[in-house]
Amino acid sequence: MQTAPTSGDDESAESPVPLATMPLRSSRASGLATLKQTGNGRWHDWRWQMSNRIRTAAQLQKFIPALADTSEFEKVIAKYPMAITPYYASLIREANLSDPVFQMAVPQTRELWDPPFLAEDPLEEEEDMPVRGLVHRYPDRALLIATTTCATYCRHCTRKRVAGTRECSISAARMQAVTAYLADHPEITDVIISGGDPLTMSTAAIEHILSSLRSVPSIEVIRIGTRAPVTLPQRITDELVAVLRRYQPVWVNTHFNHPNELTEEAGNACARLVDAGIPVSNQTVLLRGINDNPQLMEQLCRGLVRMRVRPYYLFQCDLVRGVEHLRTPLSRGIEIMEYLRGRLSGLAIPTFVVDAPHGGGKIPVLPSYIVTTSPTHTVLRNFEGMLINYPDPVIAPEPSKCHLRMSAAPGVWELAVGKTSMIVPENTHRHSRRDGRATERLSRSGDPI
Ligand code: SF4
Repeated sequence: MQTAPTSGDDESAESPVPLATMPLRSSRASGLATLKQTGNGRWHDWRWQMSNRIRTAAQLQKFIPALADTSEFEKVIAKYPMAITPYYASLIREANLSDPVFQMAVPQTRELWDPPFLAEDPLEEEEDMPVRGLVHRYPDRALLIATTTCATYCRHCTRKRVAGTRECSISAARMQAVTAYLADHPEITDVIISGGDPLTMSTAAIEHILSSLRSVPSIEVIRIGTRAPVTLPQRITDELVAVLRRYQPVWVNTHFNHPNELTEEAGNACARLVDAGIPVSNQTVLLRGINDNPQLMEQLCRGLVRMRVRPYYLFQCDLVRGVEHLRTPLSRGIEIMEYLRGRLSGLAIPTFVVDAPHGGGKIPVLPSYIVTTSPTHTVLRNFEGMLINYPDPVIAPEPSKCHLRMSAAPGVWELAVGKTSMIVPENTHRHSRRDGRATERLSRSGDPI
C-alpha cells in the first residue's frame, strides 16, 4: 500500500467546525438537531462529515464534557486511531459504556490489554497476499484492501493493524499489479473491495477500481465491504449509485451491529442502493455488552429485513489484539442462533461463523439439530425440541428383526430405528394451537371450508 491522497481529499478542502459547539444530548433526536445546526446546512454532505470527524482526545472531550480525564485515551489513540463522524457521534445517547454506539466508537483503555493468544493479523491475511493489498485465500475469491481510511474507526475492527494507522488509498501502480494478478488467475471470479472503507474514497477513485476490475474478463462479481450506510449514510449519493450501477453485478456488504444504528438516514442510504438494483447484505460482529443478546439480535435482524438488507453473517469476534474486551464465548453465539431459529424466517437469520485463526477461513457454527444417526434414519430436533425421525431412501431392515419391544414412552433409539416417527415435547405453543384447531374442526365438521 503506497501513500495516495486520502480518500475524499480531492473533494473536501474545508476546515473543521469546532467540535466544542457540539453538545451531547441524552436524547438522540435533540442531539442530532443541535449537531445539524453546526453543519451550517452541510450536514448531509459526506465530505463535510469526513472533514469534521472527531479525531483527538481534546475534540472528544469537547464533544463529551463528562469525559473529564482523557489522558488515557491519548495512549489508546496513539496505537489505534480514533475517528467518529458527527453523524455517528449523534447516535450516542449516553456517554458511557451502557451505550452501544459509544462502545463501538470511543476508545477504551481495555484495548491495550491483550492475552498472549491474540495476534495483530489472526486471519493471516498478510500471508495470503500475492500482491500487496490483495488477499487470495479461497480459490475463486480475492479481497482487495483498497484504502486504510474509514469514516469511523470501529473499536472492534479486525483490521486494527491497518485501519487508520496511516490514511491512504491504493495507488494506480498497485492497482495495475492487482489487475495483472487477477488476469493471470482466471479462477478468481469474485473480488471484494474492502479496506478500511472503500466508500470513503472519491467517486472517481472508486470508479477507477471498478473499471480496472471489470477489465479482467474472468471477474464476474464485485462486492464492496463498507460501513458507510452505518457511519456515513450521506455517502450513498445518486452520483455514487450511478457509478456502481455501471459495473454490475455489484453487491454491497455492510455492517450494522445494533438496532440504534437503524436510523432513517441509514434506511434511506440502503434504499438508494437497493432501488438501483444493488443488493445489500449485512455482516454483524457479535460484541460483548453491545449486541450479545438474543432479543436484541432478533430486533436487529427484523429491522434489517424491513430495510431490505439481508442479514448474511453473524461473526464471532476474531482473536485480534485490542478487541478482547468485546469478545464473547462461542457458546453465546450458539445460544443466539438457537433463539433466532423458529422465531425469524430463514431470510432474516444470518449464518454464525468463526473466521478461523491461521487463515482457516469461515467455519459455520450451529446449534446441533442432528440428535443421532443410524444406518436407516437420522433423528432431527426442531426449534421446539420436537424429535423427528427422517428415514433414509433405502430399504430399511425389517423393524421386527430388531426385537424391539416398544415402551410406553419412545426414546431417541426408537426414532433411530424407525419404530416411531416423532417425539413431541409437551405444551409447545404450536401443538396447543393445533389441538385447539382440531377440536374446532370436529365441532364444525360438515362445513365446506
Ligand atoms: S469500517 Fe470496517 S475496516 Fe473500518 S474500522 Fe470499522 S470494521 Fe474496521
